[in-house]
Formats: sequence, C-alpha cells, structure tokens
Amino acid sequence: MKSVNPANEETLAEYAPLSPGERDIRIGESASAYESWRRRPIAERAACLRRAAAHLREAKHELAKLVTQEMGKPIRQSEAEVEKSAVGCEYYAEHGESFVAPQPLEFDGARTYLRYDPIGPVLAVMPWNFPLWQVFRFAAPTLLAGNVALLKHASNVSGCALAIERIFRLAEFPPSTFTTLLIGSNEVADVIAHPAVRAVTLTGSDAAGRSVSRVAGEHLKKTVLELGGSDPFIVLADADVESTARAAAQARTLNSGQSCIAAKRFIVHESIADAFAEAMVAEMRKLRVGDPLDSATDVGPLARADLRDDLHDQVERSVQAGAKLLTGGRAIESPGFFYEPAVLDRVTMGMAAFDEETFGPVAAIIRASDDDEAIELANRSAFGLGASVWSRDVEHAERLTPRIDSGMVFVNEIVKSDPRLPFGGVKDSGYGRELSNIGIREFTNVKTVWVNNRA
Ligand code: NAP
Repeated sequence: MKSVNPANEETLAEYAPLSPGERDIRIGESASAYESWRRRPIAERAACLRRAAAHLREAKHELAKLVTQEMGKPIRQSEAEVEKSAVGCEYYAEHGESFVAPQPLEFDGARTYLRYDPIGPVLAVMPWNFPLWQVFRFAAPTLLAGNVALLKHASNVSGCALAIERIFRLAEFPPSTFTTLLIGSNEVADVIAHPAVRAVTLTGSDAAGRSVSRVAGEHLKKTVLELGGSDPFIVLADADVESTARAAAQARTLNSGQSCIAAKRFIVHESIADAFAEAMVAEMRKLRVGDPLDSATDVGPLARADLRDDLHDQVERSVQAGAKLLTGGRAIESPGFFYEPAVLDRVTMGMAAFDEETFGPVAAIIRASDDDEAIELANRSAFGLGASVWSRDVEHAERLTPRIDSGMVFVNEIVKSDPRLPFGGVKDSGYGRELSNIGIREFTNVKTVWVNNRA
C-alpha cells in the first residue's frame, strides 16, 4: 500500500498489508478487548477521549503535515481538521454519557426503561478526503458507547491510519480498543463476515456502499452509510449576487472540491443567473492554486491522478453535451495532480456535471425559471446529502426547506458538519446518521428493560 504525495507525485512511504492470518488475530484481540472495555465506567472512557483530544492538539502540526502530504489538503485546512477532531472527542467526552443514559418509559404498574448498551466490534471503512475527521467522528461516539473500533482506511492514507491508532494508544485506551487494519478493499467482505464483527459503517462512494451493504445484509449486520453527494445550492431571485457568489466559491472549493457536502450544482434564478455566473467566475479566478504546504494556498492538488482524470472527463462530457466552460477546466502542467478551478454554465439534466458527483473544483450553474423549477431540479439527483437556499428573505427560503429531498438543508449558510448536528443523507447518499445524540445511538443495542416491582 503506497502513499504518494499528490503535490509532487513522489512516493512518501510503502506499507505492507496485513496477511489474512494477522488480520484475524487483530480482530480476535479486538473482540477480547471489548469484553473489558464495555464494563469500564463511562467516565473512564470519557477521560480517554479527553486525553486523545489533548494528544491531537499536541501533535497538530505534525499531523496536519501528514494529512497534507498524503492527500494534498491545503495546510490551514489540515490544521483545522486536527482541531475539529479534538473538538469531536471533547464533545462526546462531555455529552456522551447523557446521550446513552437509560431513558424511563411510561408504563402502568411496572418500571420500564430503555438502555443504550454497546454491541461489540464495529468496522469503519473510511475515505481519504478528511482522513482524520471522518475517523474521529465515528470513533469518538462508538468508543464512548462501549464498543471497540476496527478501521479499514483508504489505501492512499495509511500513514494517517497508523497515526490515529497511535493517538488512541497515547491516550491510554486499552490495547485493541481501536485497531487499524491495513488491508485492501477486497478484504472488507471477509472482515464483515467475521463472527466477532457486529456492524459496519462506510463513508465513501455509493458503489462501495452498495457492496458493503450487500455483504452486511447477507450476514444480518447493521450498516450506516455516508455516501456521495451532489448538493444543490439554490439561489433565489432576491439573493445578493456578490456575497452569495463568494459563499458559493467557498462552498465548492473547500478541500479542493473533494467534499461530500461541497455545493456542486448551483441552481440560480434566471433573472440573476448572468450576474451570478460572472461573479462566480471572478471568485474562482481569485483562488490561489498551488503548494498545499504553503499557508497562502486556497486549492491544492486532487488526491490521486485517476481522480483528476475522472473530473476532467466529466467536464469534457458536459461541454460536449452543450455546457459552456466559463473559466478553468484543465489539468495544470506540472508535477502533481492540480486542476484549474472551473465554472460550467448552462448545465442541464442529462449532463455529467448534473447527473454525477463531481469531486473537485468544478461548479455547475443551472438556470431555473421560478422556485418550483429550482426545487424540481434540486431533487432531480440520485443523491440527497446536503442542500442550501440563499435569499434576502429568510422566511421565503425557509418555506422551501421541507420540499428538498436531502438529509440537511441550510438557509443562507454553507452546509457544514459539526458534532452537535446530525449528519447524513437520503437516497444514494446513504442512510443512518452520524454525530449528535442520534449518531451515538446507531451502534447501540436499544434495549427495553421491564422490572416488575412485585417480588
Ligand atoms: P471509495 O472509493 O468508495 O473509498 C472509500 C473507502 O471504501 C476506502 O477505504 C476504500 O478502500 C473502500 N472501498 C472502496 N470500494 C470498496 C468496496 N467495493 N468494498 C469495500 N470497501 C471499498 O471513495 P473515495 O473515492 O475514497 O471517497 C470519495 C467518496 O466518498 C465520494 O463519493 C464522497 O462524496 C464520499 N464521501 C462521503 C462522505 C459522507 O459523509 N457522506 C464523506 C466523505 C466522502 P480503498 O482505498 O482500499 O479502495
């Protein structure tokens, strides 16, 4: 398994994958660790998480550099990701106990309540785009609830996978409560089938989600799937063009455009579409593309050569189908997988930029004649992760939110994830929720207890 720096194409490190025998030994150790971890007082588990947060902050610069070198994220954003991971650990250390506390039920003549008990080893199959945060947002609640965690990280960020395991060790989590398995995706089915593994969560593409849920279904194991998105960014006729275009460029290019909740389809009322397109082009041209270790950089390289090729192919197919390329849209000639931020105008249904997820700095502008058409276009997607609506009239925008088929809708704000907010989607964006009090309960046994007080 190879880590390649996407900014200069140099090999950073190679990692030997585990043999199937070594893998199964680790899963067995994880199952043994579960038996004692589940009995630890929850306050002790919370203390481990607080220590993990402290170690993340202590190693912030080193971890941020590793993230940037392995997947190309601009360094300021990598630092913010380390901080966010620490905040996620602290959030569950602080609130986790109340989220899984027994909940009394109303019942005549008996004492009844719900318990949120742990279920065992949970496998997490994770992507490279937020290589720390995606893992911590799964691991913090899962471990606090008394489960143990097995990580199969994306093959291009093995350095991050091992660094995360080290953070948990430094935080004095007992051995094997958090385990990194360096394995390829072809072995995920075997891990799911292992009798000790009780559930699986996957963050990644819909193709990987389908494959994992199929295998998990065969073994009757619970899944949570956080998959792709093609988030609509709906600009109503009365939106402020300049400030909305500024937010739009930011929403599209965070993490160099490689975010599931990045706005991807900009559905704009036709009366302001020309002005919006012009402002969007100006904003995208302002972005500084370059060395991700330079703190002045806004957009780094894409994480792998194949991802850049796929993105460019989507742009070319959209142009062939009639979209207008207003700026950018070509690979930058230099070592590294850099791509010039692009704006495609007059995108319509049936074009790649409308129908598929574009995972890079490419904005698709789609024109709508009124609110109804804007909603219709927003919902004409296989995905349903996030959405945003922009207007000077907040009530007007908010009235549209129930009609949008997505797991999250933001009004006059960029879609973001935060430990306090449930996160997840509908349709091909997956199912289940992470974060908040809802996320922590996904991997618990919601147990009904009935106590008859008559002896
Ligand atoms: P990916 O190819 O699906 O990979 C994600 C993870 O799944 C990796 O660990 C990968 O392992 C593994 N994997 C791939 N195919 C698999 C299969 N058939 N069976 C089991 N495991 C498999 O996705 P990606 O390109 O790394 O990440 C980008 C995608 O993730 C985008 O679609 C993005 O929108 C989505 N995403 C969603 C969220 C969310 O919260 N909804 C967040 C971030 C990203 P290998 O690396 O070894 O192939």
